[in-house]
Amino acid sequence: VAEMSKKQVLILALMAFGLLLAVVPLPAFVLVISMTLGGGVVVGTRATRRWWKERQFLQKAQYVSDISQVGYFRRVPKDQLENWVFLSLTARRFVLLGDPILVRSHAQGYAWRDGKKAVVVIQLERALMEDDLRRIYTVKSKFQVENVIIVSPFPKAPRTTLPGFQILAGKDLLRWMSVLHGVKPTNLGNLPIQFCSCGAQQVEQVSRGGEPLLVCSQYPDCQKVERPAPVKGIVAATTWNDPGSLPDEAEQLDSIFVI
Ligand SMILES: [Zn+2]
Repeated sequence: VAEMSKKQVLILALMAFGLLLAVVPLPAFVLVISMTLGGGVVVGTRATRRWWKERQFLQKAQYVSDISQVGYFRRVPKDQLENWVFLSLTARRFVLLGDPILVRSHAQGYAWRDGKKAVVVIQLERALMEDDLRRIYTVKSKFQVENVIIVSPFPKAPRTTLPGFQILAGKDLLRWMSVLHGVKPTNLGNLPIQFCSCGAQQVEQVSRGGEPLLVCSQYPDCQKVERPAPVKGIVAATTWNDPGSLPDEAEQLDSIFVI
């Protein structure tokens, strides 16, 4: 069989289309066409969304404010996160008097603004639970402060009507950190030395998705970027109270034991 030319295929397609139009009643025809188009839109939207989601992991985060995943903030060293929280408080016109972290220093310090005192709680071990809020409320009352700012670098946190509570989790934490434009993010990694396909060494950076990103040391001459391969063969044991809130990194592990 001789291969059909593009022109012949087109003619055949048009003929089939015409035949279909002649045989099938018009409303059914319109329905089929719109369903096909609708399906195309759904598939297209999904592909775009996936592409958009993937893209953040291949773009360098210039500043902390560029980071779009809260998981990053629980992977940086605790001191670093604390430093950024204090910086963002200052950027929001808070005056730091002593150590504002709740029950850490002998003399409780505050973040002070508009005549009101606030203390800070940073909880990295696990996502916030109702019990944590009640416990924090008891301590907050003891120190007679008006506000408590709770930093919880997890996607979700329980809602509360407790007075003076500001919970920074998920998008709220990203919004809070958005004042840190001009502050460079910290590398997560200690990745082994790797090379770009051009032969030059790669440099570790942080992506907008808050994960390690390998950028060619010849940038901008070579613009290749790469996500480091996920860490395999690691088994994690966790005492997570809520297995549903395991960290993003858990996806890269082979097995997880929840105790
Ligand atoms: Zn290169």
